Parts: sequence; C-alpha cells; structure tokens
Amino acid sequence: MAKILTVKPSCTNHYYLATAAILSPPKAALSLSKSMAACSSFCPQRPLQYRRKPISCLPIKPQFSVQVKAFSSQESSAPPKDEIPARIGFLGLGIMGSPMAQNLIKAGCDVTVWNRTKSKCDPLISLGAKYKSSPEEVAASCDVTFAMLADPESAVDVACGKHGAAGGMSPGKGYVDVSTVDGETSKLISAHIKSTGALFLEAPVSGSKKPAEDGQLIFLTAGDKSLYETAAPLLDIMGKSRFYLGDVGNGAAMKLVVNMIMGSMMASFSEGLLLSEKVGLDPKVLVEVISQGAISAPMYSMKGPSMVQSLYPTAFPLKHQQKATPIAAAANELYKVAKAHGLSDNDFSAVIEALKVKLQERS
Ligand code: NAP
Repeated sequence: MAKILTVKPSCTNHYYLATAAILSPPKAALSLSKSMAACSSFCPQRPLQYRRKPISCLPIKPQFSVQVKAFSSQESSAPPKDEIPARIGFLGLGIMGSPMAQNLIKAGCDVTVWNRTKSKCDPLISLGAKYKSSPEEVAASCDVTFAMLADPESAVDVACGKHGAAGGMSPGKGYVDVSTVDGETSKLISAHIKSTGALFLEAPVSGSKKPAEDGQLIFLTAGDKSLYETAAPLLDIMGKSRFYLGDVGNGAAMKLVVNMIMGSMMASFSEGLLLSEKVGLDPKVLVEVISQGAISAPMYSMKGPSMVQSLYPTAFPLKHQQKATPIAAAANELYKVAKAHGLSDNDFSAVIEALKVKLQERS
C-alpha cells in the first residue's frame, strides 16, 4: 500500500526560493543568493518523526504544505481502477510525453492522444490509445487532459490557440499542464482554462526520459487542489512522488530552481572532466571517484560514461535547459555557446562541447 506523508515546511526557505525564481532572471539571481544567505540552515524536508523539536518556541507559520506520496520499491503504484478519472487526454508526445502516456495506457486508463506530428501518436494508438485531430477535440472528449509541451510558446498555443484545449474545456473537466514553463505563462494558461469553468493544475516534473519510462517522475504541482486530488491516482502511475505547492506559479518556480541547480551542476561536471584530461588523468576514473563520494549524483553516473566518449544521446534536449530560466549566469553562457554550435537537440550534457571550444580558443 502507498504511504502518505504530510510534511510542513519548518522555515520559509521555500517561499524565498519560489519568489526569487518568478522574478525576472537578473533580479532572481540576486534575490535567490540573498535569500539563501539569509537562510543559512537550508536543508531538505525531513519526515516529522525524524525532526527535532524547534529550540525556539516561536510559532512558525508555513507558507504552504507539501504532500509527498512515497512508494517502496515493492509496492504497486497503480491505484484502484474505480478511483481513476474515466477518460484521460494527453497532448504532446515527445521524449517525456510518450512514455508518460504509455504508462497510463499500460495501467488500463482510457487515453486519447494528440501530437503536432501525428506519426508520434501511432505507437500509442497501437497500444490502445484513441486519437483526436486537435487539442480542442481531445479536451472535449476527456475528463482530465494532460499537456507535455516543449516550451512556453507551444504550451500557450496548445492550450489557448486556435483549436486549443481551452475550446473543449467546460465545468467538471480538468487541465494538467506538466510542461516546464515560467510562472507567468502558467498563470496565463490557468486563466484561459478557468474562464471555461474547468479546473487547472500546473505539474512540471523533475526527472528525465528514464524516470518517465519507469513511472518514477516527481510532480511539482500547484493550482486547484480538488483537481490535484482527482489527478493524484494518475500522477502516481506516472511518478514516484508529488508535491502540492499552493498557488499557480509555485510549481513552475520550484521547477525552474531545480533546473538552475542541475544546469550549474552539469556545467561544473563538464569542466571537471576536461580538467582531469588536461592534467593527464583518465576522466573515466574521475566519474568513478565522484560516484563513490559525497558529491555523487545519479546524473553524473548516468551521463559521465557517454560524455567521456563525446556522445550525447538525447534524454533532456539542451534547448530545453537553456530556455528562459534563471540559470546561474556563467553556466547560462556556456549553454548559449553550445546552442550556437548547433547542439540544441543533443542531450544537455553536450554543454561540455562548449567548454572544449572555449579551451581551443584560449590555446
Ligand atoms: P521534446 O521531445 O522536444 O517534445 C516536445 C513536444 O512539444 C513534442 O510533442 C512537440 O511536438 C511539441 N511541440 C513543440 N512545439 C510545438 C508547437 N509549436 N505546437 C505544438 N506542439 C509543439 O521535449 P521533451 O523532452 O519531451 O520535453 C517536454 C517538456 O518537458 C519540456 O517543457 C521540457 O522542459 C520538460 N522536461 C523535459 C525533461 C527531459 O529530460 N527531457 C525533463 C523534465 C522536464 P512534435 O513532436 O510535433 O515536435
């Protein structure tokens, strides 16, 4: 059985981070670093039973509550069928959308799909999905519709454009946007959807192609709480945990902060690989050394071996890392150089190629 943990933040760190990330990028970087400095005890949330009582007796008012649904590896993530909304729509079948929709179909859901390039629907249709020829028709024929689009422009277009999903929404329906977009875009889409009487939830994901295939994504949700509850069984099919973060914009903000950290980590890892080579070490050994120490991260072990061979099989396209995110300034420049060298569609680990170019220029 699934275990529900309800965790309430014990300080306002989350608020500072979320606020910083929805500001314009330069302001965000400044505000973010000030906020982090102000919160020197920045730490991940711990389950209540492991937390010490606060020394201060001052009451602490949480900014929002966080719900984590945790599963052990032995447990089935599929909820009872009668709890699942009857008809599910899925718009956007790229690297992430395809496996997510596939997991819903495999769990027995009634799924209707649409994608701009129709051929990407075919494998899902052969697994049992229905097809409609516009987002509007999908939304009109489904109870809950998910969207997993490339960027803010496509997310707005598919939700609010001509024959967009909003045209098919009405009271009793829900729209869950799982794309990575900025808070303002999310609020715009929310306003359009809600003007039809339907409910809206933003739910960007943490996790890449493999977690999407394995149903191990982490959902960062915000918006209509009742839609969050209705969609929960579906999120639990596609993911391993979900956080409800309050008002629309907070999910987007959390995702952008996570992406900022990830982008900087990858740029720094790339620099380390090249430096190890430069000083005569084997970068493969560096990957191994890192994997065993305190700075190990699954991302390094997963991407390191192919990066050493200058291979970048696309799991998270570089162009998506270098969207309008408040990424740390120095790292952002590197991603821009990588894009300028035609690496947009490669995996974001191809940022190492930008560093190689810079090193060549210097020598
Ligand atoms: P992707 O493979 O490039 O897929 C993008 C999807 O958006 C495709 O279905 C594409 O349709 C559609 N699309 C693009 N422009 C469109 C437009 N103008 N109108 C309608 N549809 C359009 O990207 P992805 O990796 O699946 O990423 C999807 C989202 O998830 C992005 O917001 C990304 O930041 C986020 N994300 C990705 C990862 C990852 O590791 N890949 C991880 C976390 C979050 P076509 O097939 O017709 O091109």
